[in-house]
Amino acid sequence: MAGKLKVALVGNPNSGKTSLFNQLTGLNQQTANFPGVTVERHTGFCKMSDGSIAEITDLPGMYSLYPRSLDERIVAEFLLNHRSKDCPDVVVVVADATNLKRGLLLLTQIVDIGLPVVLALNMMDQAAKAGINYDLHKMQQLLGVRVIPTNARTGYGVDTLKQALLQTHTATQQPVYALDNDVLAVVKELREKTGVDNDYEAYQLLEQPVIPSFLSDDEKEIVQSLKKKYNLFPGKYHGAETIQRYGFIQDLLDQVTIRKADEEWKRYTFRLDRILTHRIYGYVIFLFILLLIFQSIFSWATLPMDWIDTLFASLSNYLSNNLPEGPLTKLLADGIVPGIGGIVMFVPQIAILFAFISILEESGYMARVVFIMDKIMRKFGLNGRSVVPLMSGVACAIPAILSTRMIDNWKERLITILVTPFMSCSARIPVFTILIALIIPEETVLGVFNLQGLTLMGLYLLGFFAAIGSAWVLKKLLRSAERSYLLLELPPYRMPRWNNVGITIFDKTRSFVVEAGKIILAISIVLWVLSSYGPSSQMKEAEMRARGEAAELQLAEDELQDKIAAYQLEQSYAGKIGKAIEPIIKPLGYDWKIGIALLTSFAAREVFVGTMATIYSIGSRADDENTIKSRMQQEINPDTGGPRFTFATGLSLLLFYTFAMQCMSTLAVVYRETQSWKWPLLQLVFMSALAYVSALVAYQYFA
Ligand code: GDP
Ligand code: MG
Repeated sequence: MAGKLKVALVGNPNSGKTSLFNQLTGLNQQTANFPGVTVERHTGFCKMSDGSIAEITDLPGMYSLYPRSLDERIVAEFLLNHRSKDCPDVVVVVADATNLKRGLLLLTQIVDIGLPVVLALNMMDQAAKAGINYDLHKMQQLLGVRVIPTNARTGYGVDTLKQALLQTHTATQQPVYALDNDVLAVVKELREKTGVDNDYEAYQLLEQPVIPSFLSDDEKEIVQSLKKKYNLFPGKYHGAETIQRYGFIQDLLDQVTIRKADEEWKRYTFRLDRILTHRIYGYVIFLFILLLIFQSIFSWATLPMDWIDTLFASLSNYLSNNLPEGPLTKLLADGIVPGIGGIVMFVPQIAILFAFISILEESGYMARVVFIMDKIMRKFGLNGRSVVPLMSGVACAIPAILSTRMIDNWKERLITILVTPFMSCSARIPVFTILIALIIPEETVLGVFNLQGLTLMGLYLLGFFAAIGSAWVLKKLLRSAERSYLLLELPPYRMPRWNNVGITIFDKTRSFVVEAGKIILAISIVLWVLSSYGPSSQMKEAEMRARGEAAELQLAEDELQDKIAAYQLEQSYAGKIGKAIEPIIKPLGYDWKIGIALLTSFAAREVFVGTMATIYSIGSRADDENTIKSRMQQEINPDTGGPRFTFATGLSLLLFYTFAMQCMSTLAVVYRETQSWKWPLLQLVFMSALAYVSALVAYQYFA
């Protein structure tokens, strides 16, 4: 063989590719991007037993050759481009032995495109623990490829795998998927015109959702015209193909599985499942668990949230008292520290929520929830797995959107990503609380229900209905030929592994703090600059005016400072921007001050209360909500002479904050997950429009 042996590691996400890669290459590795895209390509070198060197590539995880993401498309093209100098000589399909079906689906596809394959049956230790055992010899015969049991954590089987790499050749087996006769005609024509040497490979070139970029312009032309001539579209035969492949795999597993997981837990699991997935009790229990979770989030988190709030308030106080006076101190004490405090405050809620979610997942219950919710969610273009992101969205949309990676149907995942921000996240709580306190009387209805609490719940429900309503609309609008199946194995119930729970909590909280933190920090600096500076003559004049009035009223020093701040705010750049947008928001019942808060909270909605506090000249001194509240209550609308925050204005703001997409960090995460600006922009425009219209209707109706 001329040159190095090129080996590619392919497999489902989390099957152990990277662990195996590390076992094979040690520290001998490097990272580069695939040409033209930001998908990482890890390569490394491995010394073989015959002294030669093999070049190993670790590829992003994939479920099948039909890509659902950019990552997967890059891998699919990498495997389909047989003429490239990078085309692997051997593909190692890494499969999780405890969950073989999906790994084998990918394996049969790669065998069918004619690449030499070795199967690394990984996680053999886990399989053994679960009591699963396979007849490897038989598996090898039926698949026509070498099967090597491995444990990528300990390195067990790696030497045997290396041996096998040196002896691999293309399987001589019949393809697993027999192409339809009418497809065979197209495939034959394509093969004649382009010299592709394998039926299924040619078929893949025709069925890829995007015509592979490695084809020459002429070849793309040929593919295009053949698709047209024979009326092919991506996904036309996926259903048939998946059914055939799984049929083959089920057959194979029936023959090679020697010992299934032992039966004792099965009986136990079966009994529990009869209740937990019951047509009625299943839902009742789930609803009850949901209630418990929300109740805990709100009751347990209050205390630590108060601590954090106080801590940051005193830190900010400490800084302004102990650092030399000047703009830098002000920026730190009034801008950055409160800004960071505003993020860290939500950590307890997020931690509690993810503690619950991860316990439910670890115990095996979440798979049942996915199962019972699937049918309902499907009506709205979502899928059973969307339950987790939607639930997480109540704490924060960022970790929620990250958790949509479990949804493998692209359309359903996209819809889940797009509607999740409608779920009322914890950043809306401070806004809701203060506005509700302003406009809803503290009354009890029907003896037990607190009117303010009911309003809060109503807003959460409104967000939820907006989410599933828009999901339904998106389902009708988005075209997708990809059909979706819920391939779900119900795992046994077991005690959660607590260190996994800990890791999940840490991971999700960190991603929230870091993702949201970056943006909020930047915004709080920008906001601070914009509201502290303005045309200098006007700022001076504002100060003089405040001093004059203060002298007349004989105000104390700190009241004077508040007055100066308030007058200067109006002249600041932020004030000018607020005034510029006033005509647009006036029909909603807002003035320029609310306008500033609205604008700043497009970066992060929780900024609203802070901005209001600054605007109503409370400064960073007291974080006491009563003070903000009473200032807001006293605010006069010069047009009516009555209070600014009437029921109509308050309601209009509440609706605005329920629907509007006011979180730059979420938009950034959506961009990262969808790899396109199209979706975050669509989300921003749609949600803002809905927010504007509902706020408008509410204000005009009640004013
Ligand atoms: P990748 O997504 O395919 O690259 O998978 P990783 O190599 O990142 O592995 C996912 C997880 O499975 C990691 O926590 C590994 O430590 C673990 N893992 C990988 N191989 C094995 C194995 O053979 N046995 C066990 N018990 N864990 C494994
Ligand atoms: Mg990996």
